[in-house]
Amino acid sequence: MKSDAAQLSKSFQDLSSSRETEPLDFARRFLELHGAAVQNEQGGLEALVPEELGVRLGIPEHTRIYQDNPEAAEETETHLINYGAPLLEKMLAETLQRAPLASCSLEFDYIKSGGFERLLRDQLTFYGAIASIETVGDIRTRYLHMDIRYTAQCDEQKEGLLSLVHNLETRTFVPDMAGMLDNLGFRLKYGRPPDGSRDLAASLQPHVDRCARIVLKEQLEPFRRSMERRLKRDVDNLREYYRSLEQEMRANLDNPNLSDSARQDRLAKIETLPQELNRKIEDLQKKYTIRVRTRPVAAILLNSPAKKLVCRVIRGRMSGQLSLTYNPVTRGIDPLACNKCGSSITHLHFNAELAPLCLECAGL
Ligand SMILES: [Zn+2]
Repeated sequence: MKSDAAQLSKSFQDLSSSRETEPLDFARRFLELHGAAVQNEQGGLEALVPEELGVRLGIPEHTRIYQDNPEAAEETETHLINYGAPLLEKMLAETLQRAPLASCSLEFDYIKSGGFERLLRDQLTFYGAIASIETVGDIRTRYLHMDIRYTAQCDEQKEGLLSLVHNLETRTFVPDMAGMLDNLGFRLKYGRPPDGSRDLAASLQPHVDRCARIVLKEQLEPFRRSMERRLKRDVDNLREYYRSLEQEMRANLDNPNLSDSARQDRLAKIETLPQELNRKIEDLQKKYTIRVRTRPVAAILLNSPAKKLVCRVIRGRMSGQLSLTYNPVTRGIDPLACNKCGSSITHLHFNAELAPLCLECAGL
């Protein structure tokens, strides 16, 4: 498991903070999925909301929503959306109660049709093998976009939304895709999810959970460090307190008015101080242990045109074929799945049958 994490985290190295989903982006998707007409505004959005949805959310038919704009909040028909805001909570509760799965097809005016050799060289690394593209074909492929709500609980609580996209055919994580779905250059058409979608999304859940844990480990690093600093500060203070307490108690032993039995009692008490200190340190460590909970709140099946790139892979005297997907949203090649552990890889090692493996599974 640990080696998977190491392998997967390698493919996150180029990631920007776009994995974290802003409440406003979530609200935009939520409203569009529920039939609202949404337009972006400076720092917010303007929406025409179907009446029934407006009633459920407690907002008027014509609404402006801002994330960080206290002045706008003074105006009528305007709502603020951020963590803890009633509107966001209502939307999250709605997606949980109702079928939190929607479907959406992507339409492009233009998808590149050449230059894939260069992408292949830039994006994938082949170890001990050479690869070249044999054929390029038009396909449709499916992705699962999942919003995950996380809560990291410790002495203080931190919460957020995470968006992760997986390729449903290869079950691999596509790092940059979630942040690029708001780009122009293609249109999203929402529709009803086809039969079996729910089972399909559920079958991918373990992959999504694993990926969320890895992404969150990195994302929560500043939070973990800040909790560690507080723990260290509290432990230092505690040690200092016990050190001066012991000094004071020892000084009291010199008091000539102290009876023998009282002196013995105090000595016994002084001896228990280190144990007491250790117990208190353990309590502090528990207090500062971060517990992370994740919960999927919404999923969208994306059906997108793509290109299938069939590659010839040659390793020594062996020769085989490898199928890759060009993703028109990221304008890159989707990571492959390690043939043994299933982790997402862009650094490809091969077994004797020329199936792609991650570094760990290749046993190097
Ligand atoms: Zn592997």
